[in-house]
Amino acid sequence: MKNKIINALSFDVEEWFHNTNMEKYVKRSEWDGYESRIERNIEPILSLLETKKTLATFFILGWVAQRHPDMVKRIAEKGHEIATHGWSHMRAYQQSPDEFEAELKKSINTLKNITGQSVLGHRAACFSITPDSQWVIDVLLRNGIMYDSSIYPVMHDKYGMIGSPRFPYVLRQEKGQRLLEFPLATYKFLKINIPVAGGGYFRLYPYSFTRLCINKLNQDGYPAMVYLHPPEFDTNQPKIKIDPINKFRIYVGINNNLKKLKQLLEDFKFAPVKEVLFSNIER
Ligand SMILES: [Zn+2]
Repeated sequence: MKNKIINALSFDVEEWFHNTNMEKYVKRSEWDGYESRIERNIEPILSLLETKKTLATFFILGWVAQRHPDMVKRIAEKGHEIATHGWSHMRAYQQSPDEFEAELKKSINTLKNITGQSVLGHRAACFSITPDSQWVIDVLLRNGIMYDSSIYPVMHDKYGMIGSPRFPYVLRQEKGQRLLEFPLATYKFLKINIPVAGGGYFRLYPYSFTRLCINKLNQDGYPAMVYLHPPEFDTNQPKIKIDPINKFRIYVGINNNLKKLKQLLEDFKFAPVKEVLFSNIER
């Protein structure tokens, strides 16, 4: 039987060639030359969610939304939440605050123009709110963002903020404005936070381990934040020549991933991020 905690389900909507592990090999200026697969990647996910009567949050990259407005509209019309994943997939700490803000505004406006709805949520490319990019918080607040989900309380070469809270919290409150944070799910083992329930970790770990971790969080009374990327289900995506470590990071477990997601939706309850967050932290 499912436990009664409602977890958050999210998808970062980007193309297969936007993967950060490919950035050394795929030039930003050449993105438009690669085959777009996002529309075909999103379909099996939307139909699985429909079958399982589950709604989720889609953090959509502005670059993708601009090229696929009908897809964005279709996701929104199914009742899912549309949130922003920025514009160019540059990591926040690689940008100046002005560059970041310009891209954030552009992505919010693009999504709003397509769906007619306000954009409440934000996820930085590659979870790039780190000790080096704390200025992002001010930028999000002054652009009307109400929650963020980019802070990963783990150690990693590209992201992470060790020691930050593991569960939903008020990230900043000032002048009547409030920004909430919903960190990515972790499992605490011997004082170490292990990343679970998302991306490569979800593909890499046996499903039984993911289930155990989410169960533990839920038994302790906390919701898990699950994040996935549509290309992570695409077994036919073009393969480019890359080094073995990044190759492993990108392709491990892809074949089995849709089956795992189906099982996850059968074992746990999920809702869009805003719903889970606002019911866990009083408005
Ligand atoms: Zn991303």
